[in-house]
Amino acid sequence: MPRTAAALISEAKEFIPGGVNSATRNFGAPYAFRDSQGAYLTDYDGRRYVDYHAAFGAILLGHSDERVTAAVTQSLNGLDLVGLGVSELEVEVARMVAKLIPSVEKSVTTMSGTEATMQAVRLARGVTGRKYLLKFQGCFHGWGDAVARNVASPADRIGTVDPLSTGILEDALGSTLVADFNDLDSVRALYERYPDQIAAIILEPVPHNVGALLPDQSFLEGLREITKAEGSILIFDEVITGFRHAPGGYQELCGITPDLTSYGKSMGNGFAVAGLGGRADLMDNFSSAGGGVMLAGTFNGGPVSMAAAIATMTVASDPEVGMHEYTGRLGARMRDGLRDITTELGIAAHVTGLGSVFICYFMDREPKSYNDLLENNDVAYATFHRRMTDRGFVMYPMTLKRNHISLAHTEADIDLTLEAAREVLQEMKS
Ligand code: PLP
Repeated sequence: MPRTAAALISEAKEFIPGGVNSATRNFGAPYAFRDSQGAYLTDYDGRRYVDYHAAFGAILLGHSDERVTAAVTQSLNGLDLVGLGVSELEVEVARMVAKLIPSVEKSVTTMSGTEATMQAVRLARGVTGRKYLLKFQGCFHGWGDAVARNVASPADRIGTVDPLSTGILEDALGSTLVADFNDLDSVRALYERYPDQIAAIILEPVPHNVGALLPDQSFLEGLREITKAEGSILIFDEVITGFRHAPGGYQELCGITPDLTSYGKSMGNGFAVAGLGGRADLMDNFSSAGGGVMLAGTFNGGPVSMAAAIATMTVASDPEVGMHEYTGRLGARMRDGLRDITTELGIAAHVTGLGSVFICYFMDREPKSYNDLLENNDVAYATFHRRMTDRGFVMYPMTLKRNHISLAHTEADIDLTLEAAREVLQEMKS
């Protein structure tokens, strides 16, 4: 007998803290899905949903994509995890990443984006011999100590050390400086205060962890110039933007080449794989190449992850598939539709995003930095997302979270979503 969602959730709470394996999975209604196919999720009660959460953006081609599943299945024939030397699949992944991502000459794989950014920060500190890391308020780079501060900070914690967790030593957080996104003066001020001490600047080139703050081109160019002039490493954290916005990530679109790039999430269409790549002279500082920066990880380069990555990157970069053109067209249809509805209903909203990513902020101007996002009406935002999910369109009810369209979504999915959005927004208005 298939169990009910409620029974599974209650059993989960007995054995898993809070009943989930990552805290933000607990936002909104308690969920338990038993099937994922293409753009759809089905829960234990047999209810079908259109999925825009996409496993935090890891699903790029659609759930259970048969090309990825076939490659993974094939990888199970013959060679499993060895832990010595290198496999053909690992070489193929590194070759593809170097071909696709402009900044990458050499790369290493990890199992998560957090490990990739941790490696990036350690490599930057190891190479420069400097102490400080500069990040931006609102950007998230995983849960490693050095970066675990000042993401979606409440107003009264902006400008202070705002840790993401207890248990992180002050010393670890104190070596990370925080500037304002799209504000080069705030970056220059930190360089004046800490001359020759900043190892690296790390940023999400499009901060999707607070929705979609679109970067000014001059801001990204300024960061490139400053880091070059100051001898710091520029790290683009493309864990969300990589592969999703273009085969080569956002750096391909903006034409700015960082020194190091972290990527992950959609790289394996839901299988655990991430990585760090960059200039060969920097990457050769890893201990694997005789350098002083430790490189380790039992599961790095495992065949299932590698096969998933190769299959996903192959489809995502195939001009005949035209994935980015297709998902971008659906994204624009969604954004235009939401814009029309909110304008017609006279709702204070700013609909934005990029390519396959869309978000409807409940504020009436374009946010340029995290401070601007304090104007977002968080309650309206969460209500909209919750009510959309109630109608069968999974959106993340935590405030400032983006939504993702995959290759498996159709125009009909978008139009149905817009119909539901109209109903929800009308309800919220009255
Ligand atoms: N960097 C960015 C930009 C992310 O959005 C995330 C996760 O959301 C990470 C790093 C961490 O990746 P992971 O969850 O795979 O550890």
